Amino acid sequence: MKEFIEKSHHIVIFTHMAPDGDAMGSSLALWHWCKQAPLCPPMEGGSPMEGRAVTVIVPNAFPDFLGWLPGADQVKIYEKEAEACNRLIAEADLFLCTDFNDPKRIGPMGEKMLANSAPKVLIDHHLMDRCADRAQTANADRPASPDGLWAEIHSHPEASSACEIVYKLIAASAADRCADRVQTAYADRPLTLKAEIATCIYTGLMTDTGNFSYNSTNAELYDIVASLLRAGVQKDEIYNAVFNQFSSDRMRLTGYALYRKMRIYPEYHLALITLTADELDQFHYRNGDCEGIVNMPLQIADVHYSVMMREERAKPGTPKSRIRISLRSQGDRPVNIWAQEVFHGGGHMNASGGELLGSIPFAVKIFEQSYKKYVKVES
Ligand code: 5GP
Ligand code: MN
Repeated sequence: MKEFIEKSHHIVIFTHMAPDGDAMGSSLALWHWCKQAPLCPPMEGGSPMEGRAVTVIVPNAFPDFLGWLPGADQVKIYEKEAEACNRLIAEADLFLCTDFNDPKRIGPMGEKMLANSAPKVLIDHHLMDRCADRAQTANADRPASPDGLWAEIHSHPEASSACEIVYKLIAASAADRCADRVQTAYADRPLTLKAEIATCIYTGLMTDTGNFSYNSTNAELYDIVASLLRAGVQKDEIYNAVFNQFSSDRMRLTGYALYRKMRIYPEYHLALITLTADELDQFHYRNGDCEGIVNMPLQIADVHYSVMMREERAKPGTPKSRIRISLRSQGDRPVNIWAQEVFHGGGHMNASGGELLGSIPFAVKIFEQSYKKYVKVES
């Protein structure tokens, strides 16, 4: 991957729709890293540090609580600047795709990227789709085939986050560069990282593990955290900046969702919350305001599955609303198959998502027709 970066002049970094902390953290960590990588060979008469443009493009806006991330002010939002982004995509000589593996997850940009034959590198921790015929299967050890979609694949479904993989890529590259000094790597040989990169990486580790409360039992993760702290990460400030930034509307929306809109299916240890576009309007909904609500029913002793549905109004020219669906579970109770087979989505075993076109009552009907098949009955 380092070789790809070093010889490229126009790098575009993509991450998925409705970017979360891991999406923003991993793409911005890559952005900082690419910007500091020397150009090899350098431009004629120029310094190796000149001559490379690196851009992070996200399909739609990221939430305000991620706006403080170093470099977030330079991120381009496709929905707002499609033409400028299309030009950048057309002239890119390298694509780095992080925290997703299906070009559909970046909306219309997916097709634009596929139209450019420049190398594409995948960095992700989601299971790869079964229909990934153009791509490779999820096996980082298997070399990418030349006719595949991806020039290089770093797919690690066992990783806590895309940020963890980015950390390891940077560590491996640094180890390589300084092999003679046997420096770097993590654990006993800490990697020297710029504080901006460390901050971006920490943010993704923290958000994708719910502040280290799930997907976070691997001791190695804490070696990485230790090395990020040594690099200057202010972990308590990051926690505050991400988790303690609710507007009063967002807090009241959370209360409303739990008090008025949560239905429990006790025999199935299952909870469902639905929010229509009209209801969201009452709380002046902004991107990210529903983040975390779906996890809350899991705090109930006997609830092990939680589903939330949120209506997005139909865009002009499209007839139906879009219902975004989030699924969560605890322990050995997969929800990703349900997300894939019923809600056209996918994700991790305990955290998945998808969508349906139609109304909330329609989505609830689909939910009620399917949960008995996908939820484990427990005595
Ligand atoms: P969330 O509920 O936070 O939107 O998504 C949880 C996880 O589900 C994401 O990290 C992602 O892995 C997965 N996910 C969400 N929406 C989709 C979707 O539309 N398609 C696929 N393949 N995965 C999704
Ligand atoms: Mn992630």
